[in-house]
Amino acid sequence: MKPSSIAASDEAFAAACARMPGGVNSPVRAFGAVGGTPRFIASARGSHLVDLDGNDYVDFVGSWGPMILGHANASVHDAIVSAVDRGWTFGAPTTAETELAAEVCDAVNSIEKIRMVNSGTEATMSAIRLARACTGRNRVIKFSGCYHGHHDALLVAAGSGLATAGTPSSPGVTPGSVADTVLCRFNDLDSVREAFRATPDDIACIIVEPVAGNMGVVAPKPGFLEGLRTVCSAHGALLVFDEVMTGFRVARGGAQARFAVAPDLTTLGKIIGGGMPVGAYGGRADLMQRVAPSGDVYQAGTLSGNPAAMAAGIATLRALRAHGAYDRLEALGTQLEQGLAAVLQKHADTVSFARVGSMFTLFFHSGRVEHFDDAMACDTGAFGRYFHAMLDAGYYVPPSQFEANFISLAHTDDEIQAAAAAMERAIVTAHGNATTR
Ligand code: PMP
Repeated sequence: MKPSSIAASDEAFAAACARMPGGVNSPVRAFGAVGGTPRFIASARGSHLVDLDGNDYVDFVGSWGPMILGHANASVHDAIVSAVDRGWTFGAPTTAETELAAEVCDAVNSIEKIRMVNSGTEATMSAIRLARACTGRNRVIKFSGCYHGHHDALLVAAGSGLATAGTPSSPGVTPGSVADTVLCRFNDLDSVREAFRATPDDIACIIVEPVAGNMGVVAPKPGFLEGLRTVCSAHGALLVFDEVMTGFRVARGGAQARFAVAPDLTTLGKIIGGGMPVGAYGGRADLMQRVAPSGDVYQAGTLSGNPAAMAAGIATLRALRAHGAYDRLEALGTQLEQGLAAVLQKHADTVSFARVGSMFTLFFHSGRVEHFDDAMACDTGAFGRYFHAMLDAGYYVPPSQFEANFISLAHTDDEIQAAAAAMERAIVTAHGNATTR
């Protein structure tokens, strides 16, 4: 069913644009790549979002990953309310911080010690500072199309919103701040070996999304992550897995558990905050001991370890301990993929589907997307038509080709089957003539 009206979202967007750049607080939300008015959300529950006009959508954005249990989950809700009842920030330690730290260390094998921060951006920025301090080296290898947040050193050839806007980097990022950033190609070990050949003794770390999610979902080819591990170990560089998106998403132990490759440092965010603003970085105890105040690498945060945020994270991670949670997510992902098999086969010359567990992307690209160059060759016009067909059918999917969709534990079998059918119809629509919006 086509939403009856979006008048209230139109009005809210106009008012927002008068006061905020682009009317939003994070770029991709603005629908810039697909056109039209972003829906202003009034409420959400389970797998559904309701906008200001009362239109109901099955949600595959999940707040860009955190809402793995679905929206307004009762146990997370109660944990937040109970924390808030006791006061919501003290600037002094609480036991909730240790509880969440223990929960993460218990789940993610390579993390012996952890520091909580407020966003994924802070987590990767701090992890890189630590890697540079621990190795006494300057350079950082990142991969085109991987996004690690918006701090200067890594805002080059980043995916996500930058790819959506078609800009390789941002004005305001000085040449100096990216001078030590070395770009390599995802899934291309030769490009990494070449970078090490060029400056064998000055690479502090490789930072990588072990499953890329910010150029759309791109799985690591067999041997890629293992190869990064080998190269880092051989050259005394650190391997940093940015698991802000994949942590507690593709397995309880993250991508490092799913692909059995251990990084030295890991960054986390999204799910570990249960929908509240939380990030974290952690890893080997000897490295983490260098962080202030036990060590000399400075990093701090007024609201870091916020009690309400810790409560949401603890409740979410405990709920994910439930027997079969990840099997269920895998099963829902498989069901969607099977539901799409016929249409994917029929349109193999124009679309391809990538999925790792409960993360997926439909690419308007023939054949597998393996790196950023492939992703950038996608037909974004067709994607825009697909997006609007989905929205009109009552499905909220990311308004950009270069993002991941997320399935939650609140999605039902019936919803997934219906979503596959809607995607099939939207693919057909996308192949029709371009419509003006
Ligand atoms: N790393 C990855 C892999 C991400 O996906 C994101 C955000 N999508 C970030 C870092 C940045 O996190 P945040 O938006 O919380 O700063």
